[in-house]
Amino acid sequence: MSLDTILIVEDEAAIRDMLNFTLSSAGYNVVEAHNGEQAWKLLNDEVPTCLLLDWMLPGMSGVNLLERIRKHDRFAAMPVIMLTARGEENDQVQGFEAGADDYVIKPFSPRALVARLKALLRREHPESSRSERLIQGDLKLDLGSYRFTVADQEVKLGPTEFKLMQFFMSRPNRVFTRLQLLDRVWGEQVVVEDRTVDVHIRRLRKILETVQRAEVIQTVRGAGYRFSVD
Ligand code: CA
Repeated sequence: MSLDTILIVEDEAAIRDMLNFTLSSAGYNVVEAHNGEQAWKLLNDEVPTCLLLDWMLPGMSGVNLLERIRKHDRFAAMPVIMLTARGEENDQVQGFEAGADDYVIKPFSPRALVARLKALLRREHPESSRSERLIQGDLKLDLGSYRFTVADQEVKLGPTEFKLMQFFMSRPNRVFTRLQLLDRVWGEQVVVEDRTVDVHIRRLRKILETVQRAEVIQTVRGAGYRFSVD
């Protein structure tokens, strides 16, 4: 799973450091810019998952940068949270008009900001929040708590079986060859043989058998494996 990247545009080092620390601790990948010009350069290299944008910046203001961003389609799916000073209601209105999705008033608590950010990302990227919990029939895989349940009964999976299950449950009814599974579940860092896949599939089926669900992992002759709850 790819990490969400948050771009912070803030000229005050103390706030930038605090945001970086808070967001990194919350599991985000953080990129920093000190001003609008630097942010614009970074944005053109990579579109982050979300932008935290300070209003008062030296040079190009936060709103000017936001207006520039909203002229480009490639940033259409990128939510923007504006950081504004207290009591500047006009700024908030202007910020929303310029295309901000949310705003946070300084001084703010780091925890409150992370909560706002999470809520915003859930709203903007419903598929990524769904991916934290995969549900197929009565099979549930919770990536946050690392739990797998069948009909609300917890079933213990080894790390590789868990990864296999995660891969299959997010791609139901599709056939994958052994090589595809090796490449996408095991990755390139480990050298393993095709047979490894069969070994782990067998192990996974054995575990699923204990809850009468071995049939969800199907062998497609001459092709590979498929997950299906039907
Ligand atoms: Ca500022």
